Amino acid sequence: MTYLFDFHSHSTFSDGTLTPEELVKRAAGQQVEMLALTDHDTTEGAADAFRTAQMHGVEFVPGVEISVSWERNTLHIVGLNVDPANVELEAGLSWIRGQRAVRSQNIAKKLQKAGMENVLSEVERMAGTESATRTHFARYLVDNGHAKDMQAAFKKWLGRKGKAYVNGEWAGLEQAVSWIRNSGGHAVIAHPARYNFTATKMRSLIEAFQAFGGVGIEVATSSHNIQEKSAFAALAKRYNLYASAGSDFHTPGNRRIELGMYLALPDYVRPVWECWKSSKAEQHVVNE
Ligand code: AMP
Ligand code: MN
Ligand code: MN
Ligand code: MN
Repeated sequence: MTYLFDFHSHSTFSDGTLTPEELVKRAAGQQVEMLALTDHDTTEGAADAFRTAQMHGVEFVPGVEISVSWERNTLHIVGLNVDPANVELEAGLSWIRGQRAVRSQNIAKKLQKAGMENVLSEVERMAGTESATRTHFARYLVDNGHAKDMQAAFKKWLGRKGKAYVNGEWAGLEQAVSWIRNSGGHAVIAHPARYNFTATKMRSLIEAFQAFGGVGIEVATSSHNIQEKSAFAALAKRYNLYASAGSDFHTPGNRRIELGMYLALPDYVRPVWECWKSSKAEQHVVNE
């Protein structure tokens, strides 16, 4: 048995542009056999995705990407094979979505001061919820001529040094990992190279994460170049972490980021799906 997998993707339930149905159909078209939907701080898309996956012969893995505050940094922790009906998980995610709503108001205030009116209502309309992401703000800024593209919107307005930056207050690392574990899932550090940590700080994150029960780290992701992929594969091996692979797909139209693509893992790491599938009878292989 060989798998083409993708364990990190987004739908319209967070900042993706495809509905869960459209996302799963696209994955099936890309020959993806195992797909995780990992929306930011919600599992709401899982039911629709699951139904569509059954029709297309795709194995669906319910997931989530949890926003975490750790030592004054924002981290993303992916939960794989979680139970979307778990009450503790849903209560935790619902609290984070409330925090998103608070942050949105504060971002909107800053944009208002820069002369933009009715930002909040427009962004909430685009997001379909009060718990919008910065991606929705970025789309608003691009659509209204305040930035030439998404990258520029983050640089000028929404990123750490941007004029409308607001630091979010998210879940604790221990909380996020325990919600994932208690719902039967497996916790994975998302796109580790994105945090720009020193080697010492990355080790301290991994050690804390493992002490709380975290088991995996993303090795192959669209956020990593070849060198980063090798470096995090080596780190996964060294710390005995499962290696995950996910495109972090948000929207069609980016040639570098496609469901199931560029996700091959080196064969000296243990792929994360072994956590929930018996690994004995099956051999993993190769995404390209
Ligand atoms: P939030 O969780 O609301 O703070 O938003 C974070 C999301 O913004 C990430 O998941 C990405 O999808 C998106 N994002 C962050 N930085 C950038 C960037 N420089 N360009 C485009 N999208 C970005
Ligand atoms: Mn996102
Ligand atoms: Mn992320
Ligand atoms: Mn993501």
